[in-house]
Amino acid sequence: MLWIGSNEAGAMIYNPGKATFQRVTGVPDNIRGLFPNAPGDMWICTNYGIYSSDGKSSHRLDGINALLRDNVVQCVAKDLNGNIWIGTFGKGISVLTKDGKSICNLDMTNGFISNAINSIKCDSHGRIWVATRNGLALFPDSGKPTIHKTFPVLERLGITYVKAIEEDKQSEVWITTNKGIARLSDDGKKAALYQSSHGLPLNSFFGNGSAKGNNGKLYFSSGNGVVEVNPEASMPETSDLRVSVSNFTVFKEGRDSKDNEYSIPVNSKHVVLEHNQSTFKITFGITDIALHDDTDLSYNMKGLDNVWMETHGENTAMYRNLPPGNYRFQIRQCLKGQELGAPYTVLYIEIKPPVWLTWWAKTAYAVAIVAFIAWAAIFYKRRVNLRQRLKTEMENSRNRQNLNEERLRFYTNITHELRTPLTLILGPLEDLVSDPSLPPRYARKLKMIRESSYSLLSLINGILEFRKTETQNRKLAVAQGNIANLIREIGLRFKESNGNPKVQVDLEIDDDGKEIYFDEEIITVIINNLMSNALKYTPQGRVTLSYFIEEADGLRYSVIKVSDTGYGISKKGLPHIFDRYYQVKGEHQASGTGIGLALVKNLVVIHNATIDVTSEENVGSAFTVGFLTDSIYPDAIHREFARKPSNALSDEEPKPEDMSQEKMHILVIEDNNDIREYIRQALSDEFTVTTACNGLDGLQSVQAKCPDLIISDIMMPEMDGITLCRTLKDDIVTSHIPIILLTAKDSMDDKETGYESGADSYLTKPFSAKLLLSRIHNIIRRRRQIAAAFIGNIDKSVTQDTNQENESAGNTEFTENEGSQMFSAVSQIDREFIDKFNSVIIDNMAAQDLGVNLIADKMCMSRSTLYRKINALLGLPAADYIRKIRLTKAAEFLREGKLSVTDISYETGFSGHSSFAKAFKKEYGMTAREYIAQFRPSSNPKP
Ligand code: ADP
Repeated sequence: MLWIGSNEAGAMIYNPGKATFQRVTGVPDNIRGLFPNAPGDMWICTNYGIYSSDGKSSHRLDGINALLRDNVVQCVAKDLNGNIWIGTFGKGISVLTKDGKSICNLDMTNGFISNAINSIKCDSHGRIWVATRNGLALFPDSGKPTIHKTFPVLERLGITYVKAIEEDKQSEVWITTNKGIARLSDDGKKAALYQSSHGLPLNSFFGNGSAKGNNGKLYFSSGNGVVEVNPEASMPETSDLRVSVSNFTVFKEGRDSKDNEYSIPVNSKHVVLEHNQSTFKITFGITDIALHDDTDLSYNMKGLDNVWMETHGENTAMYRNLPPGNYRFQIRQCLKGQELGAPYTVLYIEIKPPVWLTWWAKTAYAVAIVAFIAWAAIFYKRRVNLRQRLKTEMENSRNRQNLNEERLRFYTNITHELRTPLTLILGPLEDLVSDPSLPPRYARKLKMIRESSYSLLSLINGILEFRKTETQNRKLAVAQGNIANLIREIGLRFKESNGNPKVQVDLEIDDDGKEIYFDEEIITVIINNLMSNALKYTPQGRVTLSYFIEEADGLRYSVIKVSDTGYGISKKGLPHIFDRYYQVKGEHQASGTGIGLALVKNLVVIHNATIDVTSEENVGSAFTVGFLTDSIYPDAIHREFARKPSNALSDEEPKPEDMSQEKMHILVIEDNNDIREYIRQALSDEFTVTTACNGLDGLQSVQAKCPDLIISDIMMPEMDGITLCRTLKDDIVTSHIPIILLTAKDSMDDKETGYESGADSYLTKPFSAKLLLSRIHNIIRRRRQIAAAFIGNIDKSVTQDTNQENESAGNTEFTENEGSQMFSAVSQIDREFIDKFNSVIIDNMAAQDLGVNLIADKMCMSRSTLYRKINALLGLPAADYIRKIRLTKAAEFLREGKLSVTDISYETGFSGHSSFAKAFKKEYGMTAREYIAQFRPSSNPKP
């Protein structure tokens, strides 16, 4: 008997023997499923619940239906425990006990995959399979209806809708789905899909429409009739799939166009490509074409990336411009619905590097780089060493230079120090030599000592001068003068002192009387050196010193030439003779230091001059110094031309005849005990001498004792001579005191600042007592002359004052006076003092008490200072000077004849006629009357 349920025509029973259909009565027309509950009890699932029928009669299972959530019942199954699983169309599954009691309801509200159940089957293992509209579910243990699992492998095949379920003999489950018929392996991990391509008529299967025949065949109902499935054939395996590379196409120059492509055979699993074959296409596929549609392929190129690419039916892989290297092209295949198969299909691809990237090229590069780095390191190290050596060398050289400098400074200092004792030798020596009482035999010896001492002095001076030029401390200091005179003077000195009768010293001086600018000391040192060399190296013959003017290129040059007829200089030595310490090593070489000509050369450079030498052995030499005649040397120090060299050891100036009987007071300020003592002794015969040992001490002495003259050293502790001089000359109390400065330094700068500071004279050590005395006398005489000039000037100053009403107290009144040059030797401060003194007297002439007291008050000075200053500056007591002015004024009144003699005596401040007459007679050597008669013979004097 075959039970048939139809969708709209109710249920029928087919009798195959009779080939008759019998309608089952008592059930609705729309049948959804049939379940043989027990022999003779067929359960019929309808839109109105479950019915039970034995074929003849039917009844609705109200007790069960009442427990269902939905009466549209799709299917029924029983598990091994006899529990009843009922699937409804829209409300999930209801599980009941065999006694018809509800166990649970499974739907989407409590986690089941679907509410629409198509079919429920219990398999041979007692597991419950449920086909739903949302896929297939399995309850592995029917006793635990809350635990179910689903099948991702089916989802991968795109199966979302499962209609009917059948189990075959091998426990594999066959289902009808929205994609066709699917077959699920026993473990549920593999699946195979059969579609129209496999001969299935159409894929519209009916829900719950399946059955298993006794022959083991399975039947599924579809819109196109029943499909018979023979499940004997086994499921194809992925591992059975074979994939092969069918084509390997390379593109020339990387362009993937038809014209550029060519294939290369792939006979083995290894393809070797050149570097320019790096763009290629690999075509591959399943060997079994029948499985083509059921297969998924993916590939990747190991070595390039690890990404697996799906083929999506296009079984080609394209690669462009792959870098040289080794690659593994691998293809992975799997049947749809199955696990990925293994092993992969592999193709090894090697792209050879270009020549310049081959291993040996790279090795060559590496070697080159290593070699370069090594070379650079060695080079760098050498440089560093070299630099270090250079640094050390420079340091050594600097040290050597410093040491040398130190030594030179030491020698210079020693040399310098030698001048002080030399002063003490030469000073007394000069005094001794000029002592007429000296026996002639001693005099001769002393002269010898003196000459040697002078040689020593000139040697020391030479060394100092040389050192000064070497250290750039020698500055050009020019003055205007007649150079011819100087040259002649020097020449004459050599002529006189020449001790070799076989040598004649000639002077050829072209004196045009013109005055030019030159540095007297430099010229002197140059000529001295050249002349002494000439005399030294000329055993016989002639030494000529000439001076002349030469014109070249429109410019005038002054030329000094020293020529001799001596040994001459060898050709070898000639280029070196101006080098310092150089001496020609010849048989005639005299002793010396070798700095003479080097000094000459340095001085010539300082003087902007040139020096030439011509020489021939055994014929003679000629040194020519030339410089611009008309140059004014704008960069040089300009000073007055000293007509008498200040450094000469004796001034031949006479002692003033009318030296005052009273001894003058001289203060000697000197830190060197010996020199101080030497000066003190030399002066104490003529003067009262006091001493001080430094500038500060000296200053206090001056303020305390107010000496008549000061002799001061320049370089002293506490306060130097220049500062002392400046301080004294700026103070009205001491400004009139003459000052002589002494120094061991021969520096021009010192002299300049010495004079600037107001010093009256300047003496360079060494000096003789004779020279010092002569300087002192000079100053005293000059002061006397100045005083006389002041007195002689009274007349004019009185007249001017009367006429011009004290127009100016300045010194202009003296400028036309013959003594004006002398006045300029008096400091400005002292000239102003005298002017003021004069005007105070003239203004207060009529006052009988006009005297030092009154004037000191008016001039805001102490009486003693005023007295002392007037005495020092004017050479007579203040009272005498005041009287002189009064009488001068009186004489003027007398000459005018406007006043009587008596009036005049009162007008000029005399206390009465008789005292006036007495004083006038004393001053003028005649009476007032006689004076008037002399000036105005015609007039009658008023009494
Ligand atoms: P010094 O005279 O101290 O040796 P100089 O620098 O003055 O040093 O001279 C350098 C050298 O030049 C002398 O040593 C000498 O050999 C040579 N010399 C200089 N002048 C003459 C000269 N007129 N005749 C020959 N040789 C000279």
